[in-house]
Amino acid sequence: MTVEESTYVATLPLVLAELEVARVERVSPSFVRIELAGDELAEFGTPGPVFDQRIKLIFPNAAGTLPSFAAMDDSWWTTWIEIPEDERGSMRTYTVRDVVGEGTDTRLVVDIVVHEAHEDDPLDGAGNRWALQAQAGQRLVVLAPRKGHEFGGIEWSPGNATRLLLVGDETAVPAIRGILRDLPSDARGAAFLEVPVDADVLDDVAAPAGVSVTWLPRNGGARGEDLHAAVLAHLTGTAPAEPIAVDEEEVDPDLWETPVYSSSGEQVVEATAVPTDDSPFAGLYAWIAGESKVVTGLRRKLVKDLGLDRGQVAFMGYWREGVSMRS
Ligand SMILES: Cc1cc2nc3c(=O)[nH]c(=O)nc-3n(C[C@H](O)[C@H](O)[C@H](O)COP(=O)(O)OP(=O)(O)OC[C@H]3O[C@@H](n4cnc5c(N)ncnc54)[C@H](O)[C@@H]3O)c2cc1C
Repeated sequence: MTVEESTYVATLPLVLAELEVARVERVSPSFVRIELAGDELAEFGTPGPVFDQRIKLIFPNAAGTLPSFAAMDDSWWTTWIEIPEDERGSMRTYTVRDVVGEGTDTRLVVDIVVHEAHEDDPLDGAGNRWALQAQAGQRLVVLAPRKGHEFGGIEWSPGNATRLLLVGDETAVPAIRGILRDLPSDARGAAFLEVPVDADVLDDVAAPAGVSVTWLPRNGGARGEDLHAAVLAHLTGTAPAEPIAVDEEEVDPDLWETPVYSSSGEQVVEATAVPTDDSPFAGLYAWIAGESKVVTGLRRKLVKDLGLDRGQVAFMGYWREGVSMRS
């Protein structure tokens, strides 16, 4: 199939295409790795390194049908969102784990976090459900950056930081891995990755020599507890005596507080601003993503209690327990 014959919308400033699942691998209890292929990926491109590039995937509706974007123009979003919810398929956000191959052989690799579904499982979303049954030959719609066009979706922006902190749960493992892969070789800092169980510790997460990588499997423990303790011990030298308590009402499922954007309407800056004075957090840039309540707890502790400047840290709620992140 040529690009012209496909469902690819060539006139849009993004890759909006139906791609084929070329490969599926259950790499660990909680990660399903998929490789997406299609001639349209010849057009995929980011302005520089991929870092934590996010993309959107559209999973088929309950009847197994994907929406077609073939005849859509600039108003594709409005046209799609106006299709009844049970027909239009489900859009979710994921990270480009890797880009392999070139030209029309380019493949996008995505790691989807899964948990086994049970009948009436309230935690069973469209992405999880699809990934658990994924097979080569199936198709998904992808929204991704197109060469030479502004797409956004890379939050990694350390400015003039001299020490880096990366913190995330399993949904942020692909992003943290991508950032570590693309860092300059003289980068310094620490990464903390929380995953469900020991077997989810992936063996191909490589970091520059000056960046330590600490895996924190929960193995049945409370979400975020060890992560909070490890991050605070790293920054202050002391682990908290008690877990950080966060009220449910305090949590914004769409929490997104970066130096340049605030989901709660806080004052932002034009670009990451890392202090170079002799304050405790001088030189530090932090990137923190995961379940919104866990991220909210860290944000409160770091910004409100310890005085970390919001201009030197990105706090991102990648998902929220009990909430479907549907578009
Ligand atoms: C920028 C960005 C990048 C992301 N990158 C990735 C990525 O590379 N890989 C990845 O797997 N996810 C990633 N996510 C998170 C992913 O979008 C969410 O987990 C999303 O909710 C999954 O959709 P779903 O259809 O499975 O569940 P939804 O329909 O959104 O939710 C249904 C239920 O499932 C629960 N749920 C959702 N995610 C999880 C989870 N991880 N563990 C347990 N329960 C869950 C919800 O709390 C809810 O109760 C990213 C999110 C963002 C914002």
